Amino acid sequence: MDDRAQRRFRRLLLKWYRVHQRDLPWRRTDDPYRIWISEAMLQQTQVTTVVDYYRRFTERFPDFQSLAQADLEEVLKVWEGLGYYARARNLHRAAQMVCSSSSGQLPATPTELRHLPGIGDYIAAAVASIAFGYPAAAVDGNVKRVLARVLLIEEAVNAPKYHPVFNEAANRVLDRNDPSSFNQAMMELGATVCTPKQPACSVCPVVALCGAHTAELVETYPKRLPRRRQPTHQVAVGVVRRGSKLLITRRKPEGLLGGLWEFPGGRINDDESPAEACVREIAEETNLHVAGLESLTHVRHAYTHFKIEMEVFTCHYRSGRVRLNGPVDYRWVTPEQLADYPFPKANNKFIPLLLSNHRP
Ligand code: SF4
Repeated sequence: MDDRAQRRFRRLLLKWYRVHQRDLPWRRTDDPYRIWISEAMLQQTQVTTVVDYYRRFTERFPDFQSLAQADLEEVLKVWEGLGYYARARNLHRAAQMVCSSSSGQLPATPTELRHLPGIGDYIAAAVASIAFGYPAAAVDGNVKRVLARVLLIEEAVNAPKYHPVFNEAANRVLDRNDPSSFNQAMMELGATVCTPKQPACSVCPVVALCGAHTAELVETYPKRLPRRRQPTHQVAVGVVRRGSKLLITRRKPEGLLGGLWEFPGGRINDDESPAEACVREIAEETNLHVAGLESLTHVRHAYTHFKIEMEVFTCHYRSGRVRLNGPVDYRWVTPEQLADYPFPKANNKFIPLLLSNHRP
């Protein structure tokens, strides 16, 4: 695309965005804190899901200070259900770093922003451009798709090694006078018009400049590498009762689902039944011996890179004192108290059944 076409592209896109942008809560603010929170939430999650979480999160933690001073468990509880919990842990740590910095403010350039935990190239560019008007292109999946189609980019959008190709293309077309609106307009176009399937080319503001549309190749762009098949892990989990209380354990703070609470359990070995695995895992993780296993339910859940099939049992405490191996904390709680703790989605899939079975 030559300079003239690029200027026209910017003009058409921004004109369209001014009229058609969705009214989203984070577009009504210029507060860098709120823009940062919204971008962290939006990175892996659909806009429609994020809206409620964003409202709840910013009501409870309206600024850096309130987030920095909060207990991580409370942050995870407000985040519960949004997934990718490392984002919440990183926001919490980053808020503490901002509060203890000399300025007490979020830095305004992508380079400085990237020093904060959880801020990679995309969030750094998005926050710097939207909150501070810094001329950097924010390149997410939506933007890559638009660029691949308009510019007929042959490299696969889902191959990290080609990210620089898209980044360079995005920075070439970027409107340096209004990077905030331009970045948001590109994302909006990808999310609402240039969608993965059946893009609405007939109402697209840049249709006259789109290589894929002109060549009638819209369906063949963007190019993608085939996805690898996700493995499925068989897992057994036990709800251990002792009197009126249930045992929950806390995962270590880092890694998948770090800092969340759960019922003890783990992978089923090839040579054991789900019930045997449940008894073994509880003993290995907590040093408790259990008996009286009864099947509660079967849960399927998909994470980003694998799936689990989970057999859930109820059982009762038989002997032993808790000695943790893997989990970092534990509690004996009443069923009603489960609502006070953040749990992974796979556990929340069976907790309502557990509660209904518990009702007198
Ligand atoms: Fe996407 Fe169609 Fe617009 Fe091209 S014309 S950018 S394929 S919506």
